[in-house]
Amino acid sequence: MAGLALGYYARQCGVPATIYEAQERPGGLCVTFEHDGFLFDSGAHRFHDKDPGITRDVQRLLGEDLRVVDRPSMIFDDGRLMNFPFRLTDVLWHLGPRALARDALDMAAGRLAGRRPEPESFAGLAVRRYGRTLAERFLLNYSRKLWGLPCESLSARVSGGRLNGLDLRQFLLHTILGRRRDRRNADGKFYYPTRGIGMLTDALAQGFGRDAIRTGIEVTRLCHDNTRIRAVVVEGQGQVAVDEVASTLPVERLLAMMDPPPAKGILELARKLTHRDLILVALFLRRESVTSAATVYFPDPSFAFTRVTEPRNRSAAMSPPGHTSLVAEIPCDSGEPLWSADDADLAGLVRRPLEQIGWIREGELLGSQVVRLRRAYPVLSLDLESSMGAILRYLGGFENLTLAGRSGRFEYGWIHDMLRHGKDVVASCVADRLGPEADVA
Ligand SMILES: Cc1cc2nc3c(=O)[nH]c(=O)nc-3n(C[C@H](O)[C@H](O)[C@H](O)COP(=O)(O)OP(=O)(O)OC[C@H]3O[C@@H](n4cnc5c(N)ncnc54)[C@H](O)[C@@H]3O)c2cc1C
Repeated sequence: MAGLALGYYARQCGVPATIYEAQERPGGLCVTFEHDGFLFDSGAHRFHDKDPGITRDVQRLLGEDLRVVDRPSMIFDDGRLMNFPFRLTDVLWHLGPRALARDALDMAAGRLAGRRPEPESFAGLAVRRYGRTLAERFLLNYSRKLWGLPCESLSARVSGGRLNGLDLRQFLLHTILGRRRDRRNADGKFYYPTRGIGMLTDALAQGFGRDAIRTGIEVTRLCHDNTRIRAVVVEGQGQVAVDEVASTLPVERLLAMMDPPPAKGILELARKLTHRDLILVALFLRRESVTSAATVYFPDPSFAFTRVTEPRNRSAAMSPPGHTSLVAEIPCDSGEPLWSADDADLAGLVRRPLEQIGWIREGELLGSQVVRLRRAYPVLSLDLESSMGAILRYLGGFENLTLAGRSGRFEYGWIHDMLRHGKDVVASCVADRLGPEADVA
């Protein structure tokens, strides 16, 4: 997304550019797959209206194919679906009045103790916002499965801003005193293209010029003189001279490609940067509908998957008429045996529990598809900040190298952030050439 955005805005401004993409198909982590008339995305994607300039660009790009969808998400807990954002009846049912009161008192005591700095760890943040019981049951369980690490070792930034404006205090004020809640991150409204999130990356690729994207070509080396990148080495073509380089490669891979290599210490820090991989299991059903939610979260550790999406709840065109599909996400590390398990076994790992909870009935399952996504999430551990500081200082020393993208900058990023990276990189390029008044429309 970041690389294609960069190419798209570069083309808009008449800045010549070439994109090298290792895969046969552009789009990276933001693509839509097709299976016998069913469409499903590379994980549960939504486009959020957080950056007005970027939203306008996306609206212009997709026209009527960009629709507003109003589908809140839900949590599956203890055999029942629970609304998210929480409702009092749900919370009382799931936690009981005692636990809720205990959490509320904990939080009130914390507030009376005075202003404290924001917690650095995700565990600290979740407990501060929701109290121990609610956080443990719905947020910490889920995050342990997603990241594969104790939440005490995860940076608060893994929340990706999702907990902003969402906490038990606000929830109680809203429910009991009838105050307006800050719903900025909580409501179920988002944008979605009619035929999947891949329409957006396809439109960017089209806008850039599909022929200028060299797919199936890996970048293997960046040759430099310690101040500037002089050339990149690309598979099958040898050295290509460059003026400016924007890298959306995972930053640790970029460091390993620098020629001459960085100091040993930098390479050692780079080895500490890890990613979480993701297995998607899509099940195709002869059935009109299973849920009404955009996404259903499964914090309970007894389920191998973290969440399940029903693509037709985002757009009816995602399934043939009278049919639907369920897409489960199983986070893991590519070194684990689970990653290389048979597709049939992985499909069973999702199908069986969904049959048990009644989401799939006998004779409804038409088929399945498994997709493996490498480096789906950069793991933002607590000790990351110090490593990234040194890495960014080293890479910042190259005057014609810019980092963009989620793994490129090793930070939590949304689609609108990726587009913003692309737009800003082009804007600074144009400003260098034409002066600071130049604009990226
Ligand atoms: C499961 C999931 C759900 C998400 N849901 C949402 C959502 O609902 N809303 C939202 O806003 N965001 C969401 N995101 C985030 C969004 O998808 C990512 O931020 C975005 O796709 C990252 O784009 P990128 O360009 O940084 O990286 P990538 O998509 O990883 O692109 C990097 C590209 O570099 C290529 N590459 C790697 N090495 C080489 C090499 N040596 N030579 C050439 N090419 C190479 C890769 O093949 C890849 O195409 C989600 C992400 C995931 C994984």
